[in-house]
Amino acid sequence: MKRDKVDCVVIGAGVVGLAIARRLALAGREVIVLESEAEIGAHASSRNSEVIHAGIYYPRGSLKARLCVAGRNLLYHYCAERGIEHRRCGKLIVATSEAEEPELARIAAAAAGNGIHDLKRLGAAEVAAMEPALRGFAALLSPSTGIIDSHGLMLAYRGEAEDHGAMIAFNAPVLIGEVWEGRTLLLIGGDMPMELDCRTVINSAGLGAPEIASRLVGFPSDHVPRQWLAKGNYFTLTPRPPFSRLIYPVPEPGGLGVHLTLDLAGRARFGPDVEWIESMDYAVDPARGERFYAAIRKYWPDLPDGALEPGYAGIRPKLGPKGSPPQDFVIQGPADHGVAGLVNLFGIESPGLTASMAIADHVADLLQFGS
Ligand SMILES: Cc1cc2nc3c(=O)[nH]c(=O)nc-3n(C[C@H](O)[C@H](O)[C@H](O)COP(=O)(O)OP(=O)(O)OC[C@H]3O[C@@H](n4cnc5c(N)ncnc54)[C@H](O)[C@@H]3O)c2cc1C
Repeated sequence: MKRDKVDCVVIGAGVVGLAIARRLALAGREVIVLESEAEIGAHASSRNSEVIHAGIYYPRGSLKARLCVAGRNLLYHYCAERGIEHRRCGKLIVATSEAEEPELARIAAAAAGNGIHDLKRLGAAEVAAMEPALRGFAALLSPSTGIIDSHGLMLAYRGEAEDHGAMIAFNAPVLIGEVWEGRTLLLIGGDMPMELDCRTVINSAGLGAPEIASRLVGFPSDHVPRQWLAKGNYFTLTPRPPFSRLIYPVPEPGGLGVHLTLDLAGRARFGPDVEWIESMDYAVDPARGERFYAAIRKYWPDLPDGALEPGYAGIRPKLGPKGSPPQDFVIQGPADHGVAGLVNLFGIESPGLTASMAIADHVADLLQFGS
């Protein structure tokens, strides 16, 4: 079998893998991206809400908080520079009753802890003036939340990486590997099986990342976290929405509540909800729609009957089971697991899209690559 030596391999051509490939190629490294599918972004990166998150809810000091806030600023700048379609449309977090109001103060305090000081408190009259169809007792406006064309972003990362010498191999699943003497040997399956002898490997395979790490002979197995799958189902709104901002209820235990996001064409979708599953399955069960109607009508009483259609679903790589507290991203470098030249990214759920550029910088730092 053919065996080649290479400097850097990135496993996975999702938005995070492509951001990392771009970052390493810009730093002058030789980069090959290995992707098991036939195209970029075949999984979570094209099955999400396309929201540029402000970084409001994550625990202070967590990787999610730090990389979201840093990544959001980098992303707005990058979108403007590269002409990637996006809109800083803002988001309203709505308390629908007096009982929910204290939650808004708690959210504002958490946001301030993460360095977000632009949230604006609105009373019922201001909410009604801003979004007349919305029923709100009070709300928080997050002006720095936005939406983005996630495929356009991936194309920009890919294009810049390739312009700086990176190559993407499609239909190239990483099967197994071995770490030894500071290098990693990878066995690639697919149409053109081969072995790659790599100085640096970044395991950015999304849902596939723990399995790849567990198949690296010589990698300490106690550093491979267990993963659970939490599907997020979306329902799309058939009529044009009467809203121009993203609308979120106050969070409920275990999730952000059934919220409304907009795409760049102005269409609305509701979700994602949380459905714990045993194996990969992107089908949306129409029966889940009933719960959506009830939840949405708390803040949009005029939602017409029959207005929701099953949309699409994405799957979150969770590092804890149902009922466990939210987990942070786990990004392990050589100092964490003792294997030279290897970085594993586990549990890269939301806000991975927003944070993608900051995650790439963080990975470069763990590998002590310059800018
Ligand atoms: C329902 C949902 C909603 C979300 N909403 C938002 C949002 O609004 N804003 C936000 O910032 N984030 C959001 N996210 C999070 C964001 O989508 C992810 O964090 C991001 O897409 C992860 O990118 P990735 O490159 O790590 O993973 P992926 O996009 O899943 O890419 C991993 C790639 O690795 C490949 N792969 C897997 N195994 C192998 C193998 N053995 N060999 C080779 N290749 C392999 C896969 O084919 C895949 O292409 C959401 C996520 C979900 C699920």
